[in-house]
Amino acid sequence: MQITKREFLKKLGLAAGAGLGGAAFGDEYVADMSKLPKGSCGDPMNTWFGKNIFPLEHTMTDGPSCVLKDGKVFEPAREIPVFHETDVVVVGGGPAGFAAAVAAARNGAKVALIERYGSLGGLFTNGMVLVMLATCRRDESRWSLVTRGVCEEFMRRATKFGSDFCTPETLPARHWQPTVDPEAAKVLMDEMIAEAKVEMFFHSWGVDVIQDGSKVLGVVFESKEGRQAILARQVVDCSGDADMLFKAGGDYRQITHAIGFVSRWANMDRITGTDKRFPSRANEGNPSASWISNLGPKGNGLSVRELSAAEVYHRRRNWKHVAEMRATPGFEKVFTANTCSQIGPRATRLVDTEFVIGRKEIHEGLDFTDTVGWFGHDGPHAAFPVCYRQLLPKKVDNLLCAGRCLGTGDTIDTFRLICPCFVTGEAAGTAAALAAKAGIRPRDLDITALQKALRAHNVFI
Ligand SMILES: Cc1cc2nc3c(=O)[nH]c(=O)nc-3n(C[C@H](O)[C@H](O)[C@H](O)COP(=O)(O)OP(=O)(O)OC[C@H]3O[C@@H](n4cnc5c(N)ncnc54)[C@H](O)[C@@H]3O)c2cc1C
Repeated sequence: MQITKREFLKKLGLAAGAGLGGAAFGDEYVADMSKLPKGSCGDPMNTWFGKNIFPLEHTMTDGPSCVLKDGKVFEPAREIPVFHETDVVVVGGGPAGFAAAVAAARNGAKVALIERYGSLGGLFTNGMVLVMLATCRRDESRWSLVTRGVCEEFMRRATKFGSDFCTPETLPARHWQPTVDPEAAKVLMDEMIAEAKVEMFFHSWGVDVIQDGSKVLGVVFESKEGRQAILARQVVDCSGDADMLFKAGGDYRQITHAIGFVSRWANMDRITGTDKRFPSRANEGNPSASWISNLGPKGNGLSVRELSAAEVYHRRRNWKHVAEMRATPGFEKVFTANTCSQIGPRATRLVDTEFVIGRKEIHEGLDFTDTVGWFGHDGPHAAFPVCYRQLLPKKVDNLLCAGRCLGTGDTIDTFRLICPCFVTGEAAGTAAALAAKAGIRPRDLDITALQKALRAHNVFI
C-alpha cells in the first residue's frame, strides 16, 4: 500500500512542517503547551513558529574583553565558572575518546565526554573513513579478532543494523574488517555512551587545562555559553591532535602527513555504462553507495590556513570529478550524497610518551610486561601489542593520551587506524578510572590490576 509524503511524515511525528515542503520537528520540545512561559511570541496553539519562541532567563554574563595596547592584544585575567565536576573527563569523541569514556564508566568512574562537533566517531564517522582495519591476527590459515573489548562489542552490535550498514563477519577463513555506515555508527555510539551513563557534552571545544605544577586538575572548554571549566581527577586526551597535552606543556613532535577527504557517491547501482575511468559499482554494504577516499596533498593539519585551503581544494575536485562522470553515458544518475564534515589530517602532534614502540622492538620480540591490548597487522608480524607506557606522557601527570597522537616513525600509520584507536582509548579510560578511584597518578598504577580490569571487560592481552 502506498502512502503520501504527508502521511509518512505524520507517522514519524514530523508532520508540522510537511506543508512547507520539508520535515520540521514539532511538539517534542514543548511537551505541555499550557506551561509556556508568559510572554511567548505568537499564538502557541496555531503556529509552529510561535510556540517554539519564548524568552529565556539570562543565565550568564561574559568576562571583560581583550584589549589592544601598543599593537598587542592582551586577555585580562577572569574567573571561569565551574560547569561540572567529575572523576574522569575525556576530550574528543572519536574512536579513542568513545572507547575511553565507555571503559572509564564501566570501571566505576563518573565520566564526562566533551566533543567539539555534534556527533561521535571523529574521522571514522564525520570524516567518513568507514573501514575498520587492523582487527585480526593470523595463525596458520585462521584469522582471529584481537581488537576485542569495546571495539569488538561495537563491531558486533553494528552488524545488527543489517548488512547494508555493517559488512558481515568473515572469520576465521578471512579476516573481518567491517565497513560501517557512518550514520549507523553515530547512533550506536550514542546508544553505548547513554547505556554507560557518560555525561555527553557536544558542541564543546576543549581549549585549556587547569594545572597545579605537573598535575592536571581538569579542562576549560569553550561553547556558545562562553568559557567554562570541568574539574576532574583524571583527564584523557583523545583530541587526535593532543590539544590538552599541548596546553599542559607536554613534549611532542609535530609532523606533516597527507590531509585526506572522503566523499560518498550515490546511485552506484543505477550505473549502466562501462567507462573504465570510473568505478562501476558500490563498495559498501549499501548497494547504492560508494566510499571515495582522496589521499590528498601532505600538509600541516594544525594550520587553519592549510586546512581551509584543503577543504576548498578537495570539495572542488570531487565536484569536478562527479560532473565529468555524470556527463558520461550510463553514469548520469550518480551524484555526491555527502562529503565529510571533518577533513582528515592523518597525524599532527605525536606525544612524547614514556615508551614508543617501533617495528624493531616487535621484531626483537621484547617482553612487554605492561601490555594493555593488541591490534592486528597485515605485515610479517601477527599483531601489534600496546604497552601501558605508550599512553603516559612524560612530565605531565593525571593526563593520559590515546588515539592517533600515539606511535612514531614506522608505527604511525598503524597506531592511527580506527581499531587501534579503540584499543588505546579503552586502555587509557580504564587506567584513568582506576587511578581516579585510588587517588594516584596513572604512572603509579599497579599494572597487574589494570590488566585484570581490562581482561574482565574482554580485552585481549
Ligand atoms: C582520509 C583518511 C582515511 C582513513 N582511512 C582509514 C581506514 O580506511 N581505516 C582505518 O582504520 N583508519 C583510517 N583512517 C584513520 C582513522 O580514521 C583515524 O586515525 C582515527 O579515526 C583516529 O581516531 P582518534 O579518536 O584518535 O581521532 P579522531 O578520529 O580525529 O577523533 C578526534 C575527536 O576529537 C574531537 N576534537 C578534536 N579536538 C578537540 C578539542 N580540542 N575539544 C573537543 N573535541 C575535540 C574531534 O572533533 C573528533 O571527534 C583514515 C584517516 C583519514 C584522514
